[in-house]
Amino acid sequence: MAAKLGYGGVDRFRLAAALLVVANHTGPLSSYSLTADFLLSGVLARLANAFFFMVSGYFLFGRPRDDRRQERAALGRFLSRIGLFYAAGMLLYLPLNVYDGYFASGKGVLSYAEDIAFNGTMYHLWYLPAVMLGMCIVYGLRGVLSDRWTLGASAFLYALGLLGDSYYGLTAKAGVLSSFYDVLFEGFHYTRNGLFFAPLYIALGALAARRPLRPGFVRGYAGMLLISSGLLLAEGKALHEAGWPRHDSMYAAMVPAAYFLFRLLLAWGGAERRLLRPICAWMYVLHPLAIVLLRGIAEATGLVPFLIRNSLVYFLSVSVLSALLSMAVVCLDRLRKRRRKTGNIPSRAWAEIDLGHLEHNIGALGSLLPGGTQMMAVVKADAYGHGGVPIAKRLYKAGVRFFAVAEVDEGIALRRGGLRGDILVLGYTPSHRLTDLVRFKLMQTVVSADDAERLQASGHRLAVHVKIDTGMNRLGEPSGRIERVLSMYRHSRLRVAGTFSHLAAADGTEPEAVAFTRGQIDRFLRAVAEVRAAGFDPGPVHLQSSYGILNYPELRFDLVRPGIALYGLLANERDKKAAGIDLRPVLALKATVTRVETVRAGEHVGYGMSYAASRDSVVATVSIGYADGVPRELSERGGCVLVRGRRAPIVGRICMDQMMADVTGIGEVRPGDTVTLIGADGDECITAEEVAGWTGTISNETVTSIGARVARRYV
Ligand SMILES: *Cc1c(COP(=O)(O)O)cnc(C)c1O
Repeated sequence: MAAKLGYGGVDRFRLAAALLVVANHTGPLSSYSLTADFLLSGVLARLANAFFFMVSGYFLFGRPRDDRRQERAALGRFLSRIGLFYAAGMLLYLPLNVYDGYFASGKGVLSYAEDIAFNGTMYHLWYLPAVMLGMCIVYGLRGVLSDRWTLGASAFLYALGLLGDSYYGLTAKAGVLSSFYDVLFEGFHYTRNGLFFAPLYIALGALAARRPLRPGFVRGYAGMLLISSGLLLAEGKALHEAGWPRHDSMYAAMVPAAYFLFRLLLAWGGAERRLLRPICAWMYVLHPLAIVLLRGIAEATGLVPFLIRNSLVYFLSVSVLSALLSMAVVCLDRLRKRRRKTGNIPSRAWAEIDLGHLEHNIGALGSLLPGGTQMMAVVKADAYGHGGVPIAKRLYKAGVRFFAVAEVDEGIALRRGGLRGDILVLGYTPSHRLTDLVRFKLMQTVVSADDAERLQASGHRLAVHVKIDTGMNRLGEPSGRIERVLSMYRHSRLRVAGTFSHLAAADGTEPEAVAFTRGQIDRFLRAVAEVRAAGFDPGPVHLQSSYGILNYPELRFDLVRPGIALYGLLANERDKKAAGIDLRPVLALKATVTRVETVRAGEHVGYGMSYAASRDSVVATVSIGYADGVPRELSERGGCVLVRGRRAPIVGRICMDQMMADVTGIGEVRPGDTVTLIGADGDECITAEEVAGWTGTISNETVTSIGARVARRYV
């Protein structure tokens, strides 16, 4: 199944919108038909502005209104980002302004200020101050008005704008109105600015985010878009022929056209194309430069007849040149950022993730599987603390096409990160989150027969895996209640894409555990047989997680669900030693020595006087603590770290962000030295299983506890 994601359609249309803006300034069809060109570059192309306003409104004001503080912070970030971009644009075109005599025109300071605030200092730059002002206006309106009235007030401003733009012919006839606009136009050149044009589309973007999306409705949105674009063209043409427009930016039918276009793009989905975002933004800023450069090149090389005269060739050349310039800018920016990143090695606490080992483990596990059995990689809990997106993407590259997560947000994070393939949510999803399953193409586990009824009643069409409880007594409809099991396959809106159960004691090798597991396997096989006998297709069937694969390799199911073993770990050291498979740990946990001091015999180290030095010692302070996932009781359970390839006992209670280790006798330890908490240093190695053993838990808990502020570095 091809994965469809949230913002792919919107991202892709950015390119079309950037090209429409170029069209607006180059007139691609003017060599062929002036009317056709007007309809394209004077009417349709204006949808690009509306679209970009909507994008901003969607992302900033799409959240529920009670997040006012968060909204203000987001607006602040938006304004400073766009403000910087605008400043860069103004600076870039300064030489052109000088050349054009912009500063020689004897304008007053006020008039320059008006240009900066409303008109832009270059013909195309108006959009940037407009989006900033428009966002501020909508933010302000939302503070005092309901959503509906915000939209209404913005629509009123838009109507005023229309009367000063393509409906100006109407205005000119009415005396009072016309003098109002006379005053207006002393300051602004046009009404297509942040005050009249932007707010309505920004508010519509916010509306588009709040209205539930019907993914099956792509055709409906496309139809509405087609109708409203037809109206838009007719409106543009009629106004043009009547000679009403003072400027051709704003139309009435553009409102529904932009709205349905945006809904269509959201419903369409597709993988995100993040790179297109900066490239298209730069294309917008740089295309006038491309125009100047192209004209210069054409003059210098005598190619004017070829490059400039034909309007279509001219449009295409400007488009290609601005795309190239933009890609160059984005590439340079990435290089600069990458250099800064590598120069900035995390110095406090970090986890090194070895993706080569991950790939090795897939191969090792794969070699145990019977032919035809595929892997569903379990990447819940941020891929067991290893970083969900990078791990899942690497697994995909290595051929894995099925993924499992615990909850819907983990699935969304993977989709946003660009992961394709099937993603199964193993846990329960509350009713108000079911839309996200559809929107992000996630599969849902049916956790009971009643749950199946709830999912069916929600009205959504969902792809599901049916879970059968065979003795774990956690999730799934108990296998003994076969009628209820069968009922889960009968719902018209649930497409069953798999059937599974979970083993509770597959790690145990003692006879009771083996007998219990055999019982679970039997119950599962019997239930699946009943499902088939009743005429239902159970879809791919799966049962084993890591220990199920290792201890019951003879089973033949369609899928297996390894988690912990993928990361090169087993629950404890005993199992790791006993396993006849070469699993390599993917994660190493590291920190830095920040101070080295001698502590006299009898002195205490750390909180609560819990530790006193029995002899004169050298104590190193280490920049990692329990808030990073190091268990607080480690010091009292014989815990060690590695410094300069040697084991150093942890002394004193572990603090929130720091801890201390006794490095007496370990050569010259200095601030800045790397400390290894999990992983190898020289010939010494501390495994996650060993750390887990110190505090009486399993390695799964050790790695999933590693805190969010520990930077993950992929090697
Ligand atoms: C977590 C989980 C797995 C993976 O288990 P491991 O023991 O880490 O391999 C498999 N299936 C289900 C249902 C799970 O919740």
